[in-house]
Amino acid sequence: MVKAVVGANWGDEGKGKITDMLAEKADIIVRFQGGANAGHTIVNNYGKFALHTLPSGVFYGHTTSVIGNGVALNIPILTDEIKSITDRDVPMPRILVSERCQIVMPYHILFDQYEEERLGGKSFGSTKSGIAPFYSDKYAKIGFQVSELFDEEGLKEKLGRICETKNVLLEHLYHKPKLNPDELFETMMEYREKIAPYVCDVSAYLDQALKDGKTVLLEGQLGTLKDPDHGIYPMVTSSSTLAAYGAIGAGIAPYEIKEIITVCKAYSSSVGAGAFVSELFGEEADELRRRGGDGGEFGATTGRPRRVGWFDCVASKYGCRMQGTTDVAFTVLDVLGYLDEIPVCVGYEVDGEVTTDFPVTYKLEKAKPVLKKLPGWKCEIRGIRKYEELPENCRRYVEYIEEQIGYPITMVSNGPGREDIIYRESPLKK
Ligand code: GDP
Repeated sequence: MVKAVVGANWGDEGKGKITDMLAEKADIIVRFQGGANAGHTIVNNYGKFALHTLPSGVFYGHTTSVIGNGVALNIPILTDEIKSITDRDVPMPRILVSERCQIVMPYHILFDQYEEERLGGKSFGSTKSGIAPFYSDKYAKIGFQVSELFDEEGLKEKLGRICETKNVLLEHLYHKPKLNPDELFETMMEYREKIAPYVCDVSAYLDQALKDGKTVLLEGQLGTLKDPDHGIYPMVTSSSTLAAYGAIGAGIAPYEIKEIITVCKAYSSSVGAGAFVSELFGEEADELRRRGGDGGEFGATTGRPRRVGWFDCVASKYGCRMQGTTDVAFTVLDVLGYLDEIPVCVGYEVDGEVTTDFPVTYKLEKAKPVLKKLPGWKCEIRGIRKYEELPENCRRYVEYIEEQIGYPITMVSNGPGREDIIYRESPLKK
């Protein structure tokens, strides 16, 4: 059976924590999209970790961690990350990398930087990890699959061909040093040595695992609103963030995905540019940012301060719908305990009309939030394990949001640790 853990919003919803928690009862955890541009923060018995490439199941002895074909694989980052956790006494995880996974080339990172420089103030706020140039090349059919590292002749020929076109851009558009295909070949041979122990036919492996009755978790990166088709285009990421893509990015049949756990944070946050209707500024924002997450809302990969705002029912309802949500995991609720009243965005006003449907980008840019204030609960809720024991106003907040988004909140997370979770029966769960 396959479960997907995905985000409803802009990312940073706490998917890492939920995946780490669900991994206890899973056999295999698969990353199916994205690259090392975003990260998950996980707090467990070994300490606090920021993972960028490894799936969140790597801390358990019984799980296998898989990098699926849909991922943008940065080989040195992966091997450094493995070392960084084993250096901190985490046992060496079992890792498999799809032979069809494509490689982030050193020049993808350079092109990302050069393009941001060229665009200046009009940049997309890229993390400069090479992700957009990587996926552009993948779909332009000039990317490199991991399998190609093992075909030296083919690799040499293709590197020569690709350097020719890249060098035209480097010389005439960016005015930067040109690529040398022989040097790149040497780098590829180093990459091969690093990655060889992990490479396999992942889809065949998963097929057999499912036939054997294993439980597979698909771990998404970012959230619905960063999806290149259904998100806030063009301020999106370059690979699909939807559970449906999990089937493609892992190489399994779509009907195998039985549960889709969509993670929603109890307030909003976003790193990077793009419309953010319920965004907060000034003092109010600073306070929420400082209290948020586990030690403040700052990007796990970039350290950039995250933009923060009130919970957005319009974006989250849409975010859950596009994921095909069977369960909502509602996270970081403990952080809101300081507020007397908690505003929630229940509609968007666009050109004088109020809507609860998430609009296309140019309308979204004009949207103003319609806010409703709910009473706060003014106390610490960490440590509570039963839903009935949460303060009444806190339960009201959860139930009001569930009603607005229309998807069952069956898990409430009230702290960063694995055990900080409250399971709940939802009237919406069929
Ligand atoms: P992801 O990319 O969706 O996994 O999200 P991140 O890991 O980047 O951000 C979530 C942050 O919130 C991390 O620092 C987590 O440790 C923290 N976190 C997750 N769940 C909770 C929670 O219920 N309460 C609190 N206070 N922090 C949480």
